[in-house]
Amino acid sequence: MSPPARFERVAFIGIGLINGSLAKVMRRQGLADELVACARRQATLDKALELGLVEHATTDPAAAVEGADLVVIGTPPGAAGAVAKAMAPGLSPRAIVTDVGSIKAQLIEDVRPHLPAPERFVPGHPVAGTEHSGPEAAFETLFVNRHCILTPLPDTDPAALARIEALWRAAGSRVETMTPEHHDRVLAITSHLPHLIAYTIVGTVADLEQHLQSEVLRYAAGGFTDFTRIAASDPVMWRDVFVHNREAVLEMLGRFTEDLTALQRAIRWGEGDKLEALFTRTRAIRRGVIAEGQAFDRQALPDRPE
Ligand code: NAP
Repeated sequence: MSPPARFERVAFIGIGLINGSLAKVMRRQGLADELVACARRQATLDKALELGLVEHATTDPAAAVEGADLVVIGTPPGAAGAVAKAMAPGLSPRAIVTDVGSIKAQLIEDVRPHLPAPERFVPGHPVAGTEHSGPEAAFETLFVNRHCILTPLPDTDPAALARIEALWRAAGSRVETMTPEHHDRVLAITSHLPHLIAYTIVGTVADLEQHLQSEVLRYAAGGFTDFTRIAASDPVMWRDVFVHNREAVLEMLGRFTEDLTALQRAIRWGEGDKLEALFTRTRAIRRGVIAEGQAFDRQALPDRPE
């Protein structure tokens, strides 16, 4: 029999896009008796209550986790250690603690020392998101057909892991497990580097002289528009991602810079065959991503957003 994805009292520490979406899933499917939210700002909590994401709300992390059998940390990654410390006095050792942070190794190091039962901490990362933030950005289908990566440690309680797996499956995700370090290397190339490139390109435009900048904005075609969407992502969260996944991002950035320099050289020397060969290989990768169900072919499905 599969382990139950059902909990009695769930405390969401941080109630934005990700935790808000998970709260919607749990509420709709009846996966919890009681849902509690904790955030810094009362305005965020008022919004979460108004939207019906949770029925209780507090700015005090220790009060939020009192009596909870599941705690989900969904703050920006850099705040996770401080919130774990703040909630610890209210935390029961029987509670399962999980998180949704986009980086894993540093977050685990920051959080675990504060927990009364570190073996019941199941670190996780739903690889799903949008450029929008806050409780009003939450939607129930966010995790459907997306991967959720869990990064248990050797001493993680298998029963706690199984229950978190069951929860993400109930949300529609495909669950994978890997080490925190492997997660951080894979995400550095698939997510962190693309965001850095988008921030750079949009930043370059922001630095252009006024008249050129207004033309770029007026004639923005597909490529630039796509970058602006990614570069509109939450600045605090992405600051934390780069600062806390420094090693892996720097390694991937080194490889990328080498490849960019090679392309620069090919353009300078008019080596069209090299450019064409690369662009042909990258097309095949796009087909692979679509085949994996991680993107939609806009021509085949003109109405589906990516
Ligand atoms: P979000 O919409 O900005 O929500 C963040 C929540 O955390 C808000 O409720 C905020 O409350 C609270 N918070 C912020 N700083 C805090 C602090 N210092 N102490 C306590 N609470 C604090 O963020 P999100 O997009 O849901 O991201 C949350 C987590 O999910 C991050 O760790 C991120 O890495 C991960 N994630 C994000 C995505 C994505 O695409 N966005 C995808 C996968 C995973 P206040 O309004 O009161 O500050």
